[in-house]
Amino acid sequence: MTILGATGSIGASTIDLLKRERSRYRVVSLTARGNAAALAKLARELDASFAVIADQSAYGELKDALAGSGIEAATGDDALVEAAERPAEWVMAAISGSVGLKPTLAAIERGATIAIANKECLVCAGALFMRRAAAAGATILPVDSEHNAVFQALSAGRREDVSRVILTASGGPFRTWTREAIDAATPEQALRHPNWSMGPKITIDSATLMNKGLELIEAHHLFALKSSEIDVLVHPQSVVHGMVEFRDGSVVAQLGAPDMRIPIAHCLAWPQRIAGPAPRLDLARIGTLTFEEPDLARFPALGLARAAMEAGGAAPTVLNAADEVAVAEFIAGRIGFSGIVALVEATLEAASKRGLMGEPANLDAALAVDHVSRSLALDLLPEIAAKAS
Ligand code: NAD
Ligand code: MG
Repeated sequence: MTILGATGSIGASTIDLLKRERSRYRVVSLTARGNAAALAKLARELDASFAVIADQSAYGELKDALAGSGIEAATGDDALVEAAERPAEWVMAAISGSVGLKPTLAAIERGATIAIANKECLVCAGALFMRRAAAAGATILPVDSEHNAVFQALSAGRREDVSRVILTASGGPFRTWTREAIDAATPEQALRHPNWSMGPKITIDSATLMNKGLELIEAHHLFALKSSEIDVLVHPQSVVHGMVEFRDGSVVAQLGAPDMRIPIAHCLAWPQRIAGPAPRLDLARIGTLTFEEPDLARFPALGLARAAMEAGGAAPTVLNAADEVAVAEFIAGRIGFSGIVALVEATLEAASKRGLMGEPANLDAALAVDHVSRSLALDLLPEIAAKAS
């Protein structure tokens, strides 16, 4: 196996599982952005053959830390792609952001089995991604808990008998907050997720509900669903992860503790099952499961993402790039919480005025839109920052 994004939250959960059944797996490549010490430690522990650090300034440290181990070290974008190209049967795509698109596509092109956590690459270039996967005979297994749930529930019937799919959302830390309080939320408050422990980008996206918006687009591509066939339900307990409604009225759901090792274990063993370490679901102790409609007025990101999905073309690509910029700027304290959605919306408008909204024909076109959208967002930043203050 290969793990792209080995030092992150999903990477750690994947490695936890593989350490429990060490003899089943041989590790080919491990990658990380900048933490050379953590990457070297993992590469040695797991006896990987190739370790890639994206950030070139950390390469010296990685090389030194791996000296004498026989593990090859490399750095840079081409090396990230090479890490994915080396022959591992199973690849965990767990880089955060559209920067994961190129390496993940490289694994797809050689027909590997891809456990896909990196939803931004599906939002950035989903149509292209799925087309390439079909052409190369790659198997795509959804790691995102909601999509993994839907994937499992879909096996209960024929695809043509599905009437809709329901993705659940925890509602994030601001589910019960007023619009004014949400607008004034700090990065520290937004980074405190009630149910899941995850990387910073997805945690902020969960607070705006942009994460659920990205997941709508992810579901649209993974399962070839129309917008009208994908619903979102807020479910604060995060026990029911996703549901599939069939045309006879049956609803099949997948439940489990909110622990990413459950969907990752499913992807690791699919189509079989392995023993997993996640806590067992104790419904008697939980007692009550509740559901509510998402409030699009307090969480406009969800509506914005749905509109981008319905518009199609490059709208999701622009949305994704602008959101990556906006979340980084919010964490850095340069815009307020409501500035995230405001910046994404303004970037979509600017991109539309520039005629950037056509469907990207290939990877380079998608990455070009991603790139231009990021600079548009950065140009709009002062205006958005001024408005909010
Ligand atoms: P994280 O921030 O904890 O980890 C990201 C990983 O990607 C790290 O190994 C980091 O070094 C690497 N990375 C980041 N930027 C990079 C760059 N520019 N070049 C190369 N490598 C880079 O994030 P995470 O929470 O593990 O999430 C990873 C992906 O999985 C995201 O797309 C996220 O939306 C998705 N996901 C995460 C969870 C979760 O529970 N954490 C659940 C569902 C989906
Ligand atoms: Mg999810």
